[in-house]
Amino acid sequence: MKAPPFGYVKARELGQVFDLLEQHGDEAKILAGGQSLIPSLNLRLSRPTLLIDINAIADLQGIRETADTVVVGALTTHVALEKSPIISRHVQLLAAAMPHIAHPAIRNRGTIGGSLAFADPAAELPACATALDATFILRNRDQERRVKASEFFHGLFETDLKPGEILAAIEFPKATTSHRFAFSELARRHGDYAMIGLAAASPQLGMLRLAYFGVADRPVSAERAATHLIRDGAAGVEAACASLADDLESSGDLNAGPQTKLHLAAVLLRRALPALLPSA
Ligand SMILES: Cc1cc2nc3c(=O)[nH]c(=O)nc-3n(C[C@H](O)[C@H](O)[C@H](O)COP(=O)(O)OP(=O)(O)OC[C@H]3O[C@@H](n4cnc5c(N)ncnc54)[C@H](O)[C@@H]3O)c2cc1C
Repeated sequence: MKAPPFGYVKARELGQVFDLLEQHGDEAKILAGGQSLIPSLNLRLSRPTLLIDINAIADLQGIRETADTVVVGALTTHVALEKSPIISRHVQLLAAAMPHIAHPAIRNRGTIGGSLAFADPAAELPACATALDATFILRNRDQERRVKASEFFHGLFETDLKPGEILAAIEFPKATTSHRFAFSELARRHGDYAMIGLAAASPQLGMLRLAYFGVADRPVSAERAATHLIRDGAAGVEAACASLADDLESSGDLNAGPQTKLHLAAVLLRRALPALLPSA
């Protein structure tokens, strides 16, 4: 199928993007890598009358460090994240997740901002951002606001982005020397969307975030399971796995029913433990 007719503007600066969003409202869509948007147009799941191409906007590009954080521009492609020495040194969980996202051709075009704004519950990056307690920097014409990843995802393809707003950048805390992390997913073929996955980060002793993807309509933090592991270490594994049923409340999807999802969630948790708990 082909996309319905649409207008196209290649924006040169952010002010122009905000003008166009204001003029066209819901009828306009931001175009980043196009790797999710264009298929959804071709399948006629979305019918915007205008695409606002943001690829030429320098303000949305690049990866930079501050003393405690790494700030990633929304237009940073998956392949740029995969190859970045700053990411592999300071945000290792992201580096570990990147090769699992789709295939090289898609990673060459797809962007971090597009993936997070699209909010596919089976995508890797929303869960990584949740596990890493990333902060999303959202901009409209007048102001910038900062939203934690845990509050950004509202449901299936639903986010905290308001009309007239774009995702400009994502701020990740730099890993400290005591930081531990694990990434694992189960997909039918490498590069396919995962049936289920786990992005886990322990920024310091006594703190653990287990963010599952592919289990619900958004990334889900398994807080009860994390509490068992923090309190009891390796001795808390059985209780942690048992508590996943309450944490995840998965209703299943086309890939697997709820019981299978729960079983696979426990499999992923056990796989992650050696990296997260040195004594496991
Ligand atoms: C065959 C195939 C397999 C794939 N497999 C995977 C996979 O395994 N895992 C995975 O995570 N992804 C997968 N993807 C999706 C891919 O990662 C996309 O690149 C990504 O989800 C969207 O990024 P994009 O830059 O292409 O965004 P686009 O497609 O351009 O945009 C996606 C949505 O986000 C909005 N948007 C984009 N940027 C912004 C912004 N800065 N501010 C506000 N809104 C914005 C757009 O308006 C649109 O609604 C796959 C895609 C394909 C085609």
